[in-house]
Amino acid sequence: MMKIIFAAVFLFCLQNITASTFVGNGGNAGDVELQVTIAQISNTLSRVTELTDDEKEKLCQCEQILSEHKVCESLKNISERQSYFCADMTAEKAKDILKLIDNGPELSGGVQFLWTSKSMEVTEKNGDRQADAIANAKTKKIVLNRDQFLKLKDYERIYLITHELGHLVQIEKKYLSDDQPIGPFKQDDGARQLLNSMAAAVTMKALTTGQVSDFAKILSTSKNYKTNWFTLGLGTEKKRDEDSRLAIQKYSGWDFTYRHQLNQDWGVSLGARRLTGEEHFFTTTTATTLLNLMNAQVNYRFFPSSNPLTVAGQSHFVVGLGLESGRAEYKIKDDFTEDNDQASLLSPILSTQYYLAMNSGVWFNGGVTYTNHKYTFNNIGFGGYKSDPNQFYINIGASYGF
Ligand SMILES: [Zn+2]
Repeated sequence: MMKIIFAAVFLFCLQNITASTFVGNGGNAGDVELQVTIAQISNTLSRVTELTDDEKEKLCQCEQILSEHKVCESLKNISERQSYFCADMTAEKAKDILKLIDNGPELSGGVQFLWTSKSMEVTEKNGDRQADAIANAKTKKIVLNRDQFLKLKDYERIYLITHELGHLVQIEKKYLSDDQPIGPFKQDDGARQLLNSMAAAVTMKALTTGQVSDFAKILSTSKNYKTNWFTLGLGTEKKRDEDSRLAIQKYSGWDFTYRHQLNQDWGVSLGARRLTGEEHFFTTTTATTLLNLMNAQVNYRFFPSSNPLTVAGQSHFVVGLGLESGRAEYKIKDDFTEDNDQASLLSPILSTQYYLAMNSGVWFNGGVTYTNHKYTFNNIGFGGYKSDPNQFYINIGASYGF
């Protein structure tokens, strides 16, 4: 049996080596949010390139339907000349920004995003300024403060990233820093005003073309990168094959597990199971068995689908291998007599659970657990009552990851 278990674990490890060559299982906080934001910007800019000249001209004018929306704030304060310049630049640079996104970090000239947990400052003419994101035109890298990024609303992320992408393309033949005038944006921080206006224009288009609402479901889907997992389930055992006239063949009950993920792949868990079985013999005799079980396991996760922007890509298998111990109590009684016995249990435990992503950290799970608890109730029957050494427990439940 142990050989089979080790072979199974070895196979899962092999699978991991091949799976990890895929970019981004969404294994970190913010990965999904960032990928969604990039997809929203990319889709929106593609739309922008297809606009007619008349439509392009109006890109930086606040659309009626969004007049009360926060996104219009930076567009309301710009002059007509600035608005046309902003529209020109947004339409003209859409292709360059798309190329930055499409090339990605693998190809030269593609943008690369990096997370940081540190607070960042940019040095400008008027001194240092606190920043949630910093773009480097030379290296084509955008560094993002993860916590700040996650606090933003979906459309605010589009605004932030579009602004930063604006630093990575040449506008009037130069890369802009925030503290310089540009075109009709003649203030000291004219470039910041221009990039904010362009970012607002793109965000506005993302809102009005349904890009924001289209991705809302993906953003609310439960994410697999969480550290703590509570699972509660109900289950039943496969009918046992026991060679005793007093045998109880069907067990069912509940299970509870707490798992701590050490990283994207590995975790450790503690679990409890409580199973009961009952059997009636003749008309007056009833036998019951109660199994109280505790287990500790090492867990390995794998992802059959690699696109983190889908429910299937977040969903995954958790395979566990460990030890389970506990007690079994057998009681048999009829109208006249009562007999009982106890035995302690210890066995390896091998479990597989599939976690299906639902919403807001909630998961649906189901799977199979194998144990080989061998025990004998010596007082019961003639020569004792031996358990079937193979137990298969099938369960379904709900899980919460946070
Ligand atoms: Zn900037």
